[in-house]
Amino acid sequence: MALLATDRVGKNFGGFRVLNEVSLTVNEKSFTGLVGPNGSGKTTLFNVIYGLLRPDSGAVFFRGENITGLPPFALYERGLALAFQIPRLFGSLSVLDNLFLAAPHVAGTHPAAALFCRRYWQTKERELAARAKEVLELLELTPLSLKPARELSGGQRKLLEIGRTLMASPTLILLDEPAAGVNPVLGRKIYETLKRLQREAGITFFVIEHRLEILFDFADQVYLMDAGHVVLAGTPQAVLADPAFYTIYAGE
Ligand code: ADP
Repeated sequence: MALLATDRVGKNFGGFRVLNEVSLTVNEKSFTGLVGPNGSGKTTLFNVIYGLLRPDSGAVFFRGENITGLPPFALYERGLALAFQIPRLFGSLSVLDNLFLAAPHVAGTHPAAALFCRRYWQTKERELAARAKEVLELLELTPLSLKPARELSGGQRKLLEIGRTLMASPTLILLDEPAAGVNPVLGRKIYETLKRLQREAGITFFVIEHRLEILFDFADQVYLMDAGHVVLAGTPQAVLADPAFYTIYAGE
């Protein structure tokens, strides 16, 4: 069954049709890529899926549930997380604290109520610490745990941003260009880490990427968008074998 599905999603910006009947599916435990020239609508589609934009038509389904228009926190609680292209970290806080702050349910208890929930919070803190330790190990960031986030390299910051999404033990992670702005070797290393998370933790990835030479080595399934339409779908090999792929990218 498809973990995520968009059904004829449409979006206009001031009379300009940015998404046109976009229907696609992301299978459970897959590594699915979303590619296409600049301005083809990829980010807008992610924003619609993640509840940052309301579509003008169509619907989005996650595990069979219609999630159209649900706000990001509601999706995060359901196991759908989004990692931003430019990591949103707290520079002066440590790597570990950045992970703690990303965990769901960290905020939100009335101070008076918290006084009576000491044991609850102690258990919660232990759980959070155990999860953070696991995430740091998965991403091989353990030696950097106490470093302020601002002292990390570009690639390490990207991994930490991905680590923040992992704190909620998500089922599906949406990633906007995880290899942008890092050198090709590091870009591949980031993808190898993601692939490991797919294989070992069973996490599904849906990834926008411009660096096709990296993405195509890791993706199981790729969607190609052009001018707000999905124009091709298939394995990287099938997409590369289709003449339409070259026509679309010829103008880039
Ligand atoms: P991609 O991610 O594939 O580069 P986008 O989804 O960012 O494409 O953009 C698709 C089109 O929508 C572009 O023409 C862009 O200028 C336009 N667009 C994106 N966001 C907005 C917005 N908030 N207001 C108006 N136009 C927008």
